[in-house]
This record gives sequence, structure tokens and C-alpha cells, in this order.
Amino acid sequence: MKPHPLPKTVAPIPDELLSSWLSRLAAANYCDDAELLAHLKIDIAHGTALDFSVDAVAVEKIANAARVDPDVVRSLTFPAMTPREASLTAQMPFQHCLQCSREGLLLRHWRRAWAFDCQVCRTRLVQTLGQPGEEQISEKLIYRARCGAGMLEHAARSRGPKQLRRAMRAVTFAMSLKTFRGDPSFALQNPRSEVRLFCLAAIAAARSRPLAKAAIVSSGIDDYARVALLRAFDKEPRLLAAVDHIAQRRARSAGPMTAESRN
Ligand SMILES: [Zn+2]
Repeated sequence: MKPHPLPKTVAPIPDELLSSWLSRLAAANYCDDAELLAHLKIDIAHGTALDFSVDAVAVEKIANAARVDPDVVRSLTFPAMTPREASLTAQMPFQHCLQCSREGLLLRHWRRAWAFDCQVCRTRLVQTLGQPGEEQISEKLIYRARCGAGMLEHAARSRGPKQLRRAMRAVTFAMSLKTFRGDPSFALQNPRSEVRLFCLAAIAAARSRPLAKAAIVSSGIDDYARVALLRAFDKEPRLLAAVDHIAQRRARSAGPMTAESRN
């Protein structure tokens, strides 16, 4: 049985998520999300479950109730993704645009790990678990993280896996420095800005200078950095050997000077 059409309908905006539009539909009809889903006879707890997969029956019910074409409903969900794209697309919101959120919007592109500025209003996206003092984040870090985000997008969309591998290695290294554990793709989708921005900035740093060199130059090869490097490069022994080689050369060239200064 088809649910009755809703008294009021609203037009979805480009790139809006299905769950966002359903919430606005609910508000326009003076009910909440759960009541709307019950009216539509769609048996799920949250509309967000529909953003990634919505079956033909549910599409039909929604289209009929909102008086729109079924294709419009389908266009508000994520299309089929490659595994690489999927790993960099958050299942749940981790960042948002304060300006667009005020209008009750949730946009698809915010879910991408590389999204940095809102494509609708150009405001910088902020993490959902952002601290009140977030505005104190240094401009330099934001600038670098924005560069890294652009590189991540480029890497994610490139054909070969090489660029993305390099970017993820930088993220793994950044995670080690922040003692943040887990999957690098989750670090990039972290709802806390200190983790995400630092990891994105690391992608930019790895590009401008080879990562291993950058690590040694910036922090010295003390035990802590060595552990971080081991973690970042554990699957690439050749690279780790190169890191060691650079470190030894540096130690040798620094050695006599240290000895001289002692004499
Ligand atoms: Zn916006």
C-alpha cells in the first residue's frame, strides 16, 4: 500500500543527502524524522541508513509521498564507489559547514575525507566534535591541511594506487606522532580537528619533501621518531633502509664535530 502524499513538499538542493532532504520534508510537514519514516512505512531507525543504499520500494514510497520523480530520490544517495573511494567516504557525518547546517542541510561532499571547504558557500568545514576554541587553530596548519586535502583528492581520483599509497604513508606517520591508532582512512575522517588537520598537513609535507628526510630534518632521529618511522614504513623495508642510511650519514657527519667541540 502506498503512503499518502505529504501535504507539503520541498525541493532538494544539488548535492543534498537523502537523509537531509527527508529531515527537511519532515520539518515542512510538522513532524520529526522517525514519524516521517513511519508514515512512509520505511522500517529503519535513521534516515542516514538510506544515504548509501536505498531499495527500489523505498524510492517509490518516498517519491510518491514527496511528489517527485524516483530518479530525484536516487540522485540524493551515493552512487556505487570503488573500494578506494569508499574507504575515504564517511558512513556518518564527521564534519559540516556551520552556515549550511543552520539551514538544515547536510551535503554529500562533506563526507569525503578530502572535503575541506563547503562547495556551496566556501566556508571551511569544521569537525562535528570541534572544540569551542577551534578558531585558535593556526592559519599555517589550516593552509597546509587544505593543500594536503587537495592532494588527497587528486590521489584518490588518480588511476594508479601510487599517489594514494604515498599520501596514506604520510598519514600513518602523522598518526604515529600523535599516538593515534587505527586505520589511516579513519584518522582522515576523524571528528576531532587536531587529528584530521595534522594528518592532512602531513600529506602536503610528504609531497614537498621526501617524508623520511622531512622527518629526520624536523625532529632528529631520536628513539621516538624511529618508532614512528618503523610504524609508517613497516611494509616497505627498502624505504626504511633508506631512512636508516640517511640517519647514519647524518650521525657520521655530526660525529667528528661533536668530538671536536668536546676537545
Ligand atoms: Zn556551506
